[in-house]
Amino acid sequence: MNKKNFILGILFSLILCNFCVEIDAQEKKKYPDPAPMTAAMTEIWTPQPKIVTPGEPVSAPSDAIVLFDGKDLSAWENDKGEPAPWKVENGVFIAGQGNIRTKQKFENFQLHVEWRIPEDVTGQGQGRGNSGVYLQGRYELQILDSYENETYINGMAASIYKQTPPLVNAMRKPGEWNVYDVIYSAPVFKDDGTYRTPPRVTLLHNGVVVQNNTTILGTTEYIGHPRVAKHGAGPILLQDHPGHVAFRNIWIREL
Ligand code: MG
Repeated sequence: MNKKNFILGILFSLILCNFCVEIDAQEKKKYPDPAPMTAAMTEIWTPQPKIVTPGEPVSAPSDAIVLFDGKDLSAWENDKGEPAPWKVENGVFIAGQGNIRTKQKFENFQLHVEWRIPEDVTGQGQGRGNSGVYLQGRYELQILDSYENETYINGMAASIYKQTPPLVNAMRKPGEWNVYDVIYSAPVFKDDGTYRTPPRVTLLHNGVVVQNNTTILGTTEYIGHPRVAKHGAGPILLQDHPGHVAFRNIWIREL
């Protein structure tokens, strides 16, 4: 080896060694772990929607599929496909013993649901008369006592749960009947399972528009962000909580 090559070799070795030390230092550098997801991270509390006074409900039109007419829950089943166990009495049925869903599955529809928070409801926030109407079994329109009961607004009555708060608060007092009229457009999917057209919903709460062709972002998770997974027709599902929410006069029109 001549003198010139020898010096070049020494210089190259020094540069390589320095590079290795830098890589080693980077590998050993500690970065903070991301904070774990909590329920509060997806809660929105302000501004609280203004309060309006609603009008009166309507009965089923002639072309509706009646899902509950006050007599029995023959159109419904539990999560296992067994007879719906919720108690029917005096023309209404009461939440209890797990979620129930319609036996029939739907795509696009108009849905009418009447529901009532017990007059003697107790608790506060999400623990006060909680239930929910899941569109296609996945997307929850929240049911809650939102009469003088503040909570995060994307979790109050008529919200798309953990997504979009209602435009106004049209809630009736506990013991009085509330009405949801829903117009729902099912999603269309790409081959990769993402939305080509996301689901959309318009909701009238006691005759007042509270969701106006709102885009649904995905599943309505208690913890975490909405998830998107390809699906077909799905049932109407009613959520069980210990709130003893009552239901009556439920009908649907396929669109
Ligand atoms: Mg709920």
